[in-house]
Amino acid sequence: MDLEEYVRARKLMVERLMAAGYLRNPRVAEALLSVPRELFVPEAYRQLAYDDRPLPIGEGQTISAPSIVARMTELLDVREGHKVLEVGTGSGYQAAVLAMLVGDAGHVWTIERIRSLAEAAEARLRSLGLLRRVTVIVGDGTLGYPPAAPFDRIIVTAAAPSIPQPLVEQLSPGGRLVIPVGSKEEQTLLVVTKEGNELRVERDLEVIFVPLIGKYGWPE
Ligand code: SAH
Repeated sequence: MDLEEYVRARKLMVERLMAAGYLRNPRVAEALLSVPRELFVPEAYRQLAYDDRPLPIGEGQTISAPSIVARMTELLDVREGHKVLEVGTGSGYQAAVLAMLVGDAGHVWTIERIRSLAEAAEARLRSLGLLRRVTVIVGDGTLGYPPAAPFDRIIVTAAAPSIPQPLVEQLSPGGRLVIPVGSKEEQTLLVVTKEGNELRVERDLEVIFVPLIGKYGWPE
């Protein structure tokens, strides 16, 4: 496929996601239209970049399906100027989408435990000129990222056995956390909102993610 064909495929992807109800927010649609997903998948899978399926990115990890990225991004409700933490950088695609939504006044911190993936993601974000808005960190994201806390929004893109306490602590008042919680085989997307000292938890889609491995995740 050439550049124009990828642009067409991207538009088609967004139209399909809207028709299927995964995508409603025009700002999220705009963000998905502005990130070349084909650059975030290994060359061998580039033709499949706009199919609604996860794809391997190396190290046994995957880039999430477009419908899941769309749904999670909508649920996160990112506004311009927000400080956002992503746990599970993977390819860097979700981080790029978040960078579009926070604008120049906001910032995205994204943590990945596998150094080679973090470095590849950082290189992609750099080539798209997004490193002004995104900081890539290598480490255990179940601990959050205290130097930049608190965060308006936190998104976890790996499967957690439970909600990691450090992430709740690093959420701003009124802040929101989107995280798949369940077994290693299947999870429910949870939307957690911090309201005063209370946490409101709403359930969304049933999903399948690779495991979140770390101190407040699954053991190594
Ligand atoms: N959001 C990614 C897809 C994530 S796949 C994208 O857009 O491509 C989940 C990623 O989470 C994997 O790369 C995995 O290595 C990483 N991961 C698992 N446990 C982690 C932890 N405790 N801290 C940081 N990253 C973790």
